[in-house]
Amino acid sequence: MPRTAKWLGDAMEGLLGSRFPLMKVMETNYINPNIKKIRFKGNLSGMNFQLGYAVIIRVSDTEYRNYSVSFSDVENGILEIIFHLHGAASGCLFMDRLTVGDQVRVSMPRGQKQYDPAVKKQLLFGDETSLGVAVSFQPYLKKNNHEFQFYFELDEANEQVPRLLGLENYTVFPKNNHFRNEQWINDLAIFRAGDWLTANYILTGNVKSVQTFRRVLKNNNISGRIFTAGFWLEGKTGL
Ligand SMILES: Cc1cc2nc3c(=O)[nH]c(=O)nc-3n(C[C@H](O)[C@H](O)[C@H](O)COP(=O)(O)OP(=O)(O)OC[C@H]3O[C@@H](n4cnc5c(N)ncnc54)[C@H](O)[C@@H]3O)c2cc1C
Repeated sequence: MPRTAKWLGDAMEGLLGSRFPLMKVMETNYINPNIKKIRFKGNLSGMNFQLGYAVIIRVSDTEYRNYSVSFSDVENGILEIIFHLHGAASGCLFMDRLTVGDQVRVSMPRGQKQYDPAVKKQLLFGDETSLGVAVSFQPYLKKNNHEFQFYFELDEANEQVPRLLGLENYTVFPKNNHFRNEQWINDLAIFRAGDWLTANYILTGNVKSVQTFRRVLKNNNISGRIFTAGFWLEGKTGL
């Protein structure tokens, strides 16, 4: 639902009430000029945050966008999101302008349950829009002694961001359509070594990259589960 009439949005917020709480911006932090982390505070009681869940944020009178929760603390009403400021689009402009004290409407979280504590090996793939998912997973992957890897396709300007966010076990690939090329993906070390064929794969970010990576995983008959969620697609507004 990227767009709706203003009266309908207002009515929905009124009807949904506590399911669409007003959250206050407590802290903003530019990791670099393209990546902004924001901490919100509000009443999150009764909300169920699973790893990889996303919320919908009203970014104008008529537009809504999806964002993953990188950290949540329901008891203290805190949630954090990592935004990719990719250009002069409604969501980006809105997030770029947010400053401490501003208030925004945030929906209750929802999504697929992507984390399985019983699976030893987990690989998360994505781009700048997936950094929040990786940041939310990492403490659990470490605490529960998983073997894990993050694969990111990033713009050159954002190569240092995983390190600045404290991520570990990551590989950065240039965003130059490698992940649109089945043969190139097939040559990745994970397929040659064979021991990542039992892993769970959580693929997010660009729709075309996610679809291509998934096809190669399927062709390699991996025995683990594959979770896919395309977060954005060239030329498409607000997936
Ligand atoms: C479940 C889910 C979780 C998500 N989590 C996050 C998150 O945690 N952080 C985050 O930053 N984004 C996240 N996204 C992606 C975000 O919702 C989209 O990028 C959205 O399009 C941003 O809205 P916008 O108004 O900035 O751009 P739009 O108005 O939607 O798009 C304008 C143009 O920009 C292009 N575009 C959109 N996103 C990007 C991008 N990242 N890079 C380059 N071009 C782009 C579009 O294709 C379109 O051509 C998530 C999406 C989903 C579905």
